[in-house]
Amino acid sequence: MSSKIRGLGVFSGGLDSMLAARVLSDQGVEVELLTFVTPFFGPERARKSAAVLGLPLRVVEITDRYFPLLFTPRYGFGKGHNPCIDCHILMLREAAAVMQAEGFHFLFTGEVLGQRPMSQNRQALELVAKGSGVPDLVLRPLSAKLLPPTLPEREGWVDRERLLNLSGRGRKRQMELAERYGLRDYPSPAGGCLLTDPGYAARLKELLAHQTQVAREDLELLKWGRHFRLPGGPKVVVGRTRRENEALAGLLRPGDLVLRVLGVPGPLVLIPGGGDEEALLQAARLAAAYSDARPGTTVTVLAEGPDRPRRLTLLTPEKAELASWMV
Ligand code: SF4
Repeated sequence: MSSKIRGLGVFSGGLDSMLAARVLSDQGVEVELLTFVTPFFGPERARKSAAVLGLPLRVVEITDRYFPLLFTPRYGFGKGHNPCIDCHILMLREAAAVMQAEGFHFLFTGEVLGQRPMSQNRQALELVAKGSGVPDLVLRPLSAKLLPPTLPEREGWVDRERLLNLSGRGRKRQMELAERYGLRDYPSPAGGCLLTDPGYAARLKELLAHQTQVAREDLELLKWGRHFRLPGGPKVVVGRTRRENEALAGLLRPGDLVLRVLGVPGPLVLIPGGGDEEALLQAARLAAAYSDARPGTTVTVLAEGPDRPRRLTLLTPEKAELASWMV
């Protein structure tokens, strides 16, 4: 095996992608890793796992290219708002561009045949490889023996005999391999992508039903606080903890309205993009209801935004009165 054969791995940092990288580097392939960043998933897991493997990692921001997938992914969504097949295609396309620009011989992933019913069945693996634009150069080392030989195998760049035949949802063989490779520090299989998180996915769907244009900040905002949709259409976000209040304050944009109850501990309340008089009143009711003020007591709410600050005096409602607005 020539030490000059270079493989570029699309790397989530999960155990499968770690094993795929290790299987190849064990054969003498010069392995580098590539991970992607959007508001839904970040590079932290990949950074940590690449460091465990001692392999170089590139991090590429793809949010702008990802946006269209949120609306009309060609191959649909999973259980949440996760367009996994289209997402894999996008990542492999991005990886193919790096491969071609930087002289890598082939791409690889940690996909395992049959592990995910939607995105890793045989047909999906084929679609993804085809969508990459370089189907013959996409190697899945963990399931390669169950798949048609790719160019790297046919050319002898990698030894197919030393690739694997993993399939299905079980994790037993992966755990055994991890043990064999001395990999003890790897992340749990769950997590890593907010689009598969039921709470985040529900908020995102609701947002997309009201907005055809979304900004990164809208997507960040979905990670924090309680979200309400007022009858007239505006969105209101109510911080749940001090940390959330701080996070919301950090996401303020020009035009937003911010409300706080005066003299009583309570949440930071945000109307992204502002709202009319009615929205302001409803948001003030939410601010009061989620403050420490007792229902029925009078409170004053300070509203600040692009115009002069306003003070609104109102009776604190019961939370239950406003529950139907909650997203
Ligand atoms: S879980 Fe998220 S990051 Fe992973 S393929 Fe699906 S959409 Fe992409």
